[in-house]
Amino acid sequence: MKKKKTAGAVATGGRLSARGDVRREDFSAAAALLAEIGRGFYARGWVLGTSGNFSAVISREPLRFAITSTGVDKSTLNASHILEMDESARVVQGNGRPSAEALLHVAIVRGLGAGAVLHTHSVWTTVLSRMHAAQGGVAIEGYEMLKGLEGVRTHQHREWVPILENSQDMDELSGRVATTLRQNPGIHGFLLGEHGLYTWGSNLQEAKRHVEILEFLMEVVTRAGAGRV
Ligand SMILES: [Zn+2]
Repeated sequence: MKKKKTAGAVATGGRLSARGDVRREDFSAAAALLAEIGRGFYARGWVLGTSGNFSAVISREPLRFAITSTGVDKSTLNASHILEMDESARVVQGNGRPSAEALLHVAIVRGLGAGAVLHTHSVWTTVLSRMHAAQGGVAIEGYEMLKGLEGVRTHQHREWVPILENSQDMDELSGRVATTLRQNPGIHGFLLGEHGLYTWGSNLQEAKRHVEILEFLMEVVTRAGAGRV
């Protein structure tokens, strides 16, 4: 995207400046971090090819996101691949267009007040989502790594990870996501069937940690065959 001059930018705490745009430094910082996190996930095999998408909230009023452009190979992801998007998934600034799944990011941020949403397509979440589709989710408990999820204090925590049937109709799917979030308070993520993981956090670092924790746990559960039915 073309970088606007930051000279004269008003310190607005994430709101629009008097000129009517998001603070450029907020967007630039989010874009750089999103790209760094995305390349790291690629290196782990969680977003191979052009799969996966990542966003961070850069303004609440009005709602604005920094989000990955669709179709970008995640091994080459850099800040120029990050768009500014509004709550209708329209591009406000930047080249390219957001993923069709951008509406799911909007649903999560609106439903939970999340500050960042990260979506991966790993082997383990894909396998696990298929194994547990009939149960509508998978329960994970007893693992020390659960304590990496925000608010979890003990390995005895039982984390329910809902599994939603995949769809290409994003209006319909985002509605089901919003319903799932309302019906399952306190969850840290959900799976789309034979597709991948969505998780979030109050900020990008927390969301990144949740990806790492949930990907670890799902790999463990799948490798152990603990959930076979
Ligand atoms: Zn996806």
